[in-house]
Amino acid sequence: MSYLSHLECSHCHESADPDALLNSCPICLKPLLARYDLAAASAAVNHLETADRPHSMWRFHELLPVRKKSSRLSLGEGWTPLLHTKNLGEKLGHESLYIKDEGANPTGSFKARGLGVAVSCALERGASALSIPSAGNAASAMSAYASLAGLKAFVFMPKDVPDVFVTECSVLGADITLVDGLITDAGRAAAEHPDAGNRFNVSTLKEPYRIEGKKTMGYEIAEQFGWTLPDVLIYPTGGGTGLIGMWKAFDEMEKMGWIDSRRPRMVSVQAVGCAPIVKAFEEGAASAEPWQNASTVAAGMRVPSAAGDFLILDAIRESNGTALAVDDESMLAMATQIGRTEGLFASPEGAATAVAFERLKSQGWIAPDDKVVLFNTGTGLKYFQLWSD
Ligand SMILES: *Cc1c(COP(=O)(O)O)cnc(C)c1O
Repeated sequence: MSYLSHLECSHCHESADPDALLNSCPICLKPLLARYDLAAASAAVNHLETADRPHSMWRFHELLPVRKKSSRLSLGEGWTPLLHTKNLGEKLGHESLYIKDEGANPTGSFKARGLGVAVSCALERGASALSIPSAGNAASAMSAYASLAGLKAFVFMPKDVPDVFVTECSVLGADITLVDGLITDAGRAAAEHPDAGNRFNVSTLKEPYRIEGKKTMGYEIAEQFGWTLPDVLIYPTGGGTGLIGMWKAFDEMEKMGWIDSRRPRMVSVQAVGCAPIVKAFEEGAASAEPWQNASTVAAGMRVPSAAGDFLILDAIRESNGTALAVDDESMLAMATQIGRTEGLFASPEGAATAVAFERLKSQGWIAPDDKVVLFNTGTGLKYFQLWSD
């Protein structure tokens, strides 16, 4: 079923037990990454025979860390459409422009992938309650899968989080704590809560399996393009879980002989009001300084400090990619343009990737025949107030 072999520290490379409930490397506290017996997986799986595979991210279950089929929690996450943007592409003067529409996921964002896997793993490894710090979408997704699993969910969100997330988590049965401050303060509150010890914390990259769910975007894109990869991927970056995850997925697929060694250039987009990764990239730094007074309407990108900062920067640089910041106003205007051309109500984070695309194309960084994929990481519906004011 799963070819998971062990956990490996992304920094000191020490091994750890993949069947224990672990938050980070017991030795250096850096993020743990799941490793698989890829030779055995490659011998067992024919990636070209996909007819009987589930129409969800679980079609790649051999490369996911859930051991038993019975522990798999599914609300139909993943296997989202890869839309060829005919009208928007025409408007922006680019033929080969695609949007991976993650707004089609359960609870309306790609957080469903990461938490679908993380909650399944936590259940399988014996957790009875879960906690999470979140800017909104991750809390909704965790609440949904915890409810399906029969696990108690404790969510910690900044107190200025849009009402919709509070209502959604409440309907999904979670216990909600609103915290004065940002997601990093919510993280501290979750960790310092008196009952923290009884709850497994699924904060991203402090828990090893959310990234495994998000990496399935990389597998899907390869499959949707006939086991080739595009030239450029543009990703709205908060914790960077999806970017690191896809980069890992490409490596796994190459080792299994599913794709060749060509890689997309990875572009990280952040908001002008919170751009720690962009700043570190521009300064040539190996890791990012925490961003002060982070502010942007794109809640998923309001992450002042990411546990996997050095992994994001490595992936951008190894891929010959780049990082850039866009302002909130252009995100909202671009969402309207996407809505009017493609019939898609994109989140500000998703729209940010199109703004970045436009800029990189005008600078000549994106060539006319490059195949480009933008990630609409969530639905605009959760943010509707931004356009109605
Ligand atoms: C969480 C989130 C992001 C950022 O994702 P990371 O993988 O943590 O960088 C982007 N967009 C939306 C809508 C999100 O919810």
